[in-house]
Parts: sequence; C-alpha cells; structure tokens
Amino acid sequence: MIQPHLTSVVDLGALSRNVATIKSHVAGPEVMAVVKADGYGHGLLASARASIAGGASWLGVALIQEALEIRQANIDTRILAWLFTPQDQLVQAIKADIDLAVNSVWSVEQIAQAAKQAGQIARVHIKIDTGLSRNGVLTTDLAEVLRAISSPVNSANLNVTGVMSHFAYADEPNHPTVAKQLDEFTQAVDLVRASGFEPEVIHLANSAAIFGLPQTHFNLVRPGLTIYGVSPTPHLGSSAELGITPVMSLRAPIALVKDLPAGSGISYAHQYVTEKATRVALIPAGYSDGIPRAGSNVGPVLIAGSLLKIAGRVCMDQFVLDVGDLPVSIGDEVVIFGDPAKGEPSVDDWATATNTINYEILTRLGPRINRTFVNESR
Ligand SMILES: *Cc1c(COP(=O)(O)O)cnc(C)c1O
Repeated sequence: MIQPHLTSVVDLGALSRNVATIKSHVAGPEVMAVVKADGYGHGLLASARASIAGGASWLGVALIQEALEIRQANIDTRILAWLFTPQDQLVQAIKADIDLAVNSVWSVEQIAQAAKQAGQIARVHIKIDTGLSRNGVLTTDLAEVLRAISSPVNSANLNVTGVMSHFAYADEPNHPTVAKQLDEFTQAVDLVRASGFEPEVIHLANSAAIFGLPQTHFNLVRPGLTIYGVSPTPHLGSSAELGITPVMSLRAPIALVKDLPAGSGISYAHQYVTEKATRVALIPAGYSDGIPRAGSNVGPVLIAGSLLKIAGRVCMDQFVLDVGDLPVSIGDEVVIFGDPAKGEPSVDDWATATNTINYEILTRLGPRINRTFVNESR
C-alpha cells in the first residue's frame, strides 16, 4: 500500500529473527540488544520488544533517559545505560532498576549516594577503557575505582554486576590493538575478581566482534547494528552472508512526473543538466529527513525496477530522478534503501556513495518520516 509520505517500513519479525540468529551464533552467552538512538532509527520501544521476542535477555542504551522510557513502557528486562552526566536522574534510574556503568571514582560516588537516597542497591558495570580512550576507567586507575567501590561509605549501596569494555578496531580482527585490548580486559576482570567481586556478566563484543572475534564473547554480547540486519563491515560478509535481514526499508511515493527538454538544469545550482529530452520524477524526501545532501548526484534509488542515481542536489524536502523512458506515474513507490537481496539499494550503498558509515545513514533519519511496523509478534 502506498503511504502519502516518506515511510520507513520496519519489519519487527526480521529484527526478532536477527536477534535469534545472533543468539544461536554465539551459542551460550546471553544477548544484550543495543537499542540506543531510537533503536538505530527503528523505534526504541518496538526494537526493545522485538529483541526480547528474539531472545535478548538484556537491553543496552547510552542514556538514562532512554532506559527510563523503556521502563515506563512496562518492559522489565534488564537494562544497562552507560553514559551519564551530573544532570541525569540517577535516583530515578536506580529506582527503575536500571544497571549503570561506572567510569571513574566520581561516578562511583554519585551512584552510591543516589542509591542511598533511593533506598536501593545500585547495580553497576565497571566500564574499562582498554584502548579506545573514550568512556571508561583506564586500567591504571582501576585499583583506585575498586577501592572507592569497596570503601565503607559506598560499598553497602553498590553491587558490581558487570565488567565491560569496547573495541577501537572490532572491524579489523587482525589489528594489533584487538589482542592488546582483549589482554588488558582479561587482566582487568582478574583484578576485579581478585578484589572480592563476583560480576554476573562480562561483556566486550559489539556486532563486528560477535561475528569476527569469537574469543571476545565472554558470557554476554552487545549487538547493535546486526540486530537491525546490517553488516558492520564488508569483509565479514554481507547481511545475507551473516544470515541476517535488513529490518528497515525507506520508501516514498512519486509526487510529480513531468517532461523536460534537453539542457534543463535540475535542482539548486544546476548540478545535473539533462542531456536529452527526458522525464523526471519528484521524490518528497530531503536532507531534513536524513537523506544525505552528499547524496546529490550519487545517491541510489530503486524506481520501476531500475537503480538510478539522484539527479542534482538533494534539497531540504525533495529530490529529483531522471527517469528517461521508465514507466512511472505519480504515486508509484520508490525505494531509497532496503534489502539488497531484493534488488533494493542497501544502507551500505548509501554510506559508500556519501562517504560515511551505515550506522549514520540509519540513525540520522528525521522526525517527519512515517514509521510503519510490520510483522510485530503478539
Ligand atoms: C553502540 C554500542 C554497541 C553496539 O555496537 P554495534 O557496532 O552497533 O554492534 C555496543 N557497545 C557499546 C558500548 C556501544 O556504545
């Protein structure tokens, strides 16, 4: 059925199957489905529910606000939030049974105080910076953080539930930093255990590590991109080769079809000029919807069974296709990206054409898009 607007069709059955595929691929460890950033553009709550239906026993998010939104929808699965600032509602998070990552003595103290105020023990995951130099406590500072957790003022309010880290080069299995980070992580876990803690979960692997680095699975894995059916890197294989299916397709109806003479400059600054008399189709999707402006003249679109590149600049709300002799009419549907196994442009095709990564193509989609869920499990 044709929607009146730019539509993202989100196949929740595919999302559940992708999670189940990942779960059977890792064979043993539990799965924390990462649903941050509005489920990578697929919808936070729908992605959370479909992940659980597929066998995820944990949900991972960046922000406490995202975790609280999941709790407010009465989803009681374990949730970990790994990024917060002094502005965040730690007391509320602890009351809502949200696990929190600690990355410093400061965060240990903040969480312990909030837990006391909440009248509840806070579950924390020690996030180790093993070489990404982003979030997390450096291994050289770990002993100090462990002392803070064990100190009389804090210890009664904290439970060390997990130890985690994140790779800098998960998509390059042979990069020397991989072995080094794994080694630092293993030593950090040993130090946590030697300090008397018994973490329930040890987790390091994101999507690329799940498929490329089996030695990094421990007892919990954190897939994001792959639950949405997109391969983290071509050298691990396409979605189809990994056994996963793209969950989202982005579709739009044609808003106008008209004939133009040869030599017509199309869109702002006439970056495309018709070579001969031709027909063009107007598509109501633009950079405010997340269609990269860098896709001007290069972004691929499936229309009437043919893959065409956008003609001229992508504008805020619309772009143009030079359809030549293709049999197209107003209202016909075009596919901006979807499942390459069906001949549709992939998220990766868009990322390559616009010099970015597939993650950004998915998560930059704008609020005007009409999201339609299909195959939701009941
Ligand atoms: C986003 C994120 C993930 C998921 O990564 P993918 O590459 O999408 O699988 C896992 N862990 C952390 C800490 C993250 O920030």
